Amino acid sequence: MKTLRTVAELRAALNGPRRAGRSIGLVPTMGALHDGHLSLIRQARASCDEVVVSLFVNPAQFEESRDLAGYPRDEARDAALAAEAGGDILFAPPPAEVYPRGFATTVAVAEVSAPLEGEHRGGAHFAGVATVVTKLLNMAQPDVAFFGQKDAQQVAVIRRLVRDLDIPVRIEVGDTIRAPDGLALSSRNARLRAGDRRRALALHRGLEAVRACHAAGERDATILAAIGRAAMAELDVEPEYLQLVAPDTFAPVATVGEQPVLVAVAARVGDVRLIDNDILNGS
Ligand code: AMP
Repeated sequence: MKTLRTVAELRAALNGPRRAGRSIGLVPTMGALHDGHLSLIRQARASCDEVVVSLFVNPAQFEESRDLAGYPRDEARDAALAAEAGGDILFAPPPAEVYPRGFATTVAVAEVSAPLEGEHRGGAHFAGVATVVTKLLNMAQPDVAFFGQKDAQQVAVIRRLVRDLDIPVRIEVGDTIRAPDGLALSSRNARLRAGDRRRALALHRGLEAVRACHAAGERDATILAAIGRAAMAELDVEPEYLQLVAPDTFAPVATVGEQPVLVAVAARVGDVRLIDNDILNGS
């Protein structure tokens, strides 16, 4: 696997394969790679001829400078893991390559960016995500780009911007990868203190309680959400939100019918903010 730093190098490296009709897959990451990222890289390896893994801690999507400063970074480790999982190119540009002096454009996706994560992290978060993902898609011009279901609202934002801006790429979504006890893997889990690691299970427990209650016949979203919150309270965790929404628009759902409904949850556990989700009536 080779590491490239500039858009010009990336384009040059992909020119030959593209002209030869080889398919290109892109896996955008912010590094601190774990099995969630690696499963996306393996998925890309299985379905694409050239696999580009991008590594860029995007300052534009961090609303707290402490979170950005504390974000784990270890490029050598990430490069070794990405190569082992099947990456061909690690694209790790410096910030000035992505945001050169005079950078003035923002991609903002209305509606789906507004609730839940948008409300709690601030409007700049998804604008930062949408802008950098648009740029990465234009830089690599992949046939397929891979994202994780763990960040379900991010997936909805990206699907919408790809559709709205006619970006010629297929979006593939990988399942959420979890620790054996159910905690969704996240680069931020490493910052959980010992007692908080156990309490962090509250998110998964809340989602499981909602799933069980739905399976037992409950269809009222307010009641299902209350059951989820109560399960979280047993581990002394109060969610920032636990809400049932439509998976594509993130509009709130009042009653669970036959259609898929996303149960989205976010909570601060100690200093660490975690998110997770589940789909009712999903495949
Ligand atoms: P990040 O480095 O956190 O920006 O994540 C890069 C990609 O990996 C995003 O598409 C995430 O949704 C995905 N991802 C992060 N955690 C997981 C996980 N536990 N399971 C599956 N995908 C994940």
